[in-house]
Amino acid sequence: MKGSFFVSVLIVAGTRPEIIKLLPVALAMRERRGDAMRFCHSGQHAEMGRDLLDAAGILPEEALDRPAGNDIGRLLSGMITTIGAAIDRQDPKAVVVQGDTATTLAASLAAYHRHIPIAHVEAGLRSGNLARPWPEEGYRRMVTPITRWHFAPTEAAATALRCENVAEGAIETVGNTVIDALHWACARLDADSALGTAAGSLIEGAQGRPIVLATVHRREADETAMRRIAAGLLSLVESEGVQLILPLHPRSESAPLRERLGGVPRVTLTDPLDYFAFVRLMRAARLIVSDSGGIQEEATALGRPVLVLRDVTERREAIAAGSARLVGYDAEALLAGARWELSRPMPTPSTVFGDGRAAGRIADRILNDISGDLNLAP
Ligand code: UDP
Repeated sequence: MKGSFFVSVLIVAGTRPEIIKLLPVALAMRERRGDAMRFCHSGQHAEMGRDLLDAAGILPEEALDRPAGNDIGRLLSGMITTIGAAIDRQDPKAVVVQGDTATTLAASLAAYHRHIPIAHVEAGLRSGNLARPWPEEGYRRMVTPITRWHFAPTEAAATALRCENVAEGAIETVGNTVIDALHWACARLDADSALGTAAGSLIEGAQGRPIVLATVHRREADETAMRRIAAGLLSLVESEGVQLILPLHPRSESAPLRERLGGVPRVTLTDPLDYFAFVRLMRAARLIVSDSGGIQEEATALGRPVLVLRDVTERREAIAAGSARLVGYDAEALLAGARWELSRPMPTPSTVFGDGRAAGRIADRILNDISGDLNLAP
C-alpha cells in the first residue's frame, strides 16, 4: 500500500456527529499512513466535538471559521468557499465526508469543482421523505451522484444506493464508524476513570433511580413538537419515578423544555456533554429518548432501549433489532412506550450497525485506490 509518491486524504468534519463518526477513520488513516492524512474542521459547530479531537491527538491542519449568520444558504455557500480554499491549500488526492450535514454537502461540492474524488462515509441512508429529516435527507441524496466511494453502513443502505443506479464496484458495505468510535470510547473509559467525569455527578444524583437519558435537536421538532415532548417527559418523571437527564442541544428550540422541565424534581437539564461523559451516561441509562440518528445506533450496540422522537427513521435496523421504537412527537405515545420498555428486560446488544472495524476497511480501500490507481475521476 505504501506508494512511492506522496498521497494525501483530506477528512472534512464540522458537526459533533461527523467528528465522532470520522474520528475512527482519521485514526485508521494515521495508523496506516500518518503522512497521508489531513483533517479539516469546517467550523459548523464551533465548539461541540473539538474536545474529542484533542483527546485523540488529532490537530486539524485546517481549522476554519464558521461563516457568519444563521441563514442555512449562507452557511452552505460560505463553507463551499472556505472548505474549497482549504482543499486548494492541502491539494489532496481524495476528500472524505460523512453523513448529511451542510459541511458534508459543501465539502463534496468544493471537491467536485476541483475534480477530486469524494469518499462518502455512511452513504445510502434514506428516509424516503425529503422533509424528514430536513435538510439532511436532501443533502445526503445530493452527495451520492458526485461520490466516488460509497461506504454503506448496512446492507439496507447499500441496497438503497443500488436502487439509485450507483455502480456495484463503488459501494462497499463496511458497518457504521460510530460503532468503532463507541468501542474506542468504552475502552478508554474502562482504562481511565478520569474520563467523562461530568457524567459521574449526574449518575450519583439519580441515587439509584432508573436513569432516562434524553436529547432533542432536529430542525423539524418545532415549538409545538417541543411542547409535546416536554409534556411526555414530565409525565414520565412524575408517574414512573425515574431520573431524567437532558443535555440541551444549543440549536434546539429548547425554550419549552426549559419552561416545563426546569426546576422539576428528578430532572437535570445540562449543557451538551463531552463524548466520554455521554457514553458513560448511555451505559448507565435504563432508557434513552432521542431524535438523534447516532444515538439510535449506539443504543442498539449497547443494548439500551431507545424511544425515537420522530415519525420515520432511516435506521430501520434498530427497530428490527428490538432496541428502537418510533413515538413521534406524541406525549402519550412517549409515556406508553416508556412504560412498556421499563417493564421488560433491556434489549440484547446487537452488531446490526457494525463490528467496530468499519474505519479500517474505509482507510484500506481509499489508500489502496489512490496509491495504485491514477485514474481518479469519480
Ligand atoms: N452526544 C454527545 N454529547 C451529548 C449528546 C450527544 O457526545 O450531550 C453524541 C452521541 O453519543 C452521538 C452524537 O453525539 O454519537 C449524536 O449527535 P446529534 O444528536 O447531534 O446528531 P445525529 O446523530 O442526529 O446526527
